[in-house]
Amino acid sequence: MMKIAIDGPAGAGKSTLARLLAQKMSFVYIDTGAMYRALTLRAQQKDIDLQDELSLCEMANSINIYFESQGGVQLVFCDGEDITEAIRSPEVNSNVSIVAAHPKVREIMVQKQKNMAQCNNVIMDGRDIGEQVLPDAEFKFFLTADLNERAKRRALEMERQGYYSDINDIEINLAKRDQMDADRKVGALKILEESIIVDTSQFGVDEVLAHILSIIGEE
Ligand code: C5P
Repeated sequence: MMKIAIDGPAGAGKSTLARLLAQKMSFVYIDTGAMYRALTLRAQQKDIDLQDELSLCEMANSINIYFESQGGVQLVFCDGEDITEAIRSPEVNSNVSIVAAHPKVREIMVQKQKNMAQCNNVIMDGRDIGEQVLPDAEFKFFLTADLNERAKRRALEMERQGYYSDINDIEINLAKRDQMDADRKVGALKILEESIIVDTSQFGVDEVLAHILSIIGEE
């Protein structure tokens, strides 16, 4: 079984790329950010204090988060409910890094992710995939881009989803999230010694995809 890890800051294009790679290689794509978002959404809906690690852990243990492909689109479900769109809301964007910073919450999520990766060829994207979730991955990519470029792309994406988006607000949110993700004690966003760094600032999706496929040896 082959494992490919894609880590990097928010809005670097990880999920777009991972999805295309998975299609091209017939691998399973696992969006680990969506899993932390799902937990955050449920915690907000149940009015759980986002500093209350124990309650968040109980919830993480009790909910079932899974992915389903429908007509080429990957949907995110939580206990039977399609939450694909709900997890992209500005409220979830603002709170997800608070939830993801709790070490015991991460332990549970990492275990779920490892289980999902078993017995499958997978491409996983996130922050700690190369270090914590798939330490034996054949390829560990670190995808990045300038903050301003990432904010522009995120603004377009949010517009398509029908959310009003001020580019400066997005830039502030991305920077804040990156800082929290990089500063936490466990599962921090970081470049590993073996990371293959890909800066996508100047390149379109097709070019980045071709570059990565050439590294993997698929083209
Ligand atoms: O990838 P995405 O931007 O959707 O991730 C949302 C948030 O989930 C990140 O900002 C981070 O706080 C958290 N996350 C994480 N570890 C991962 C994936 C995401 O902590 N492996």
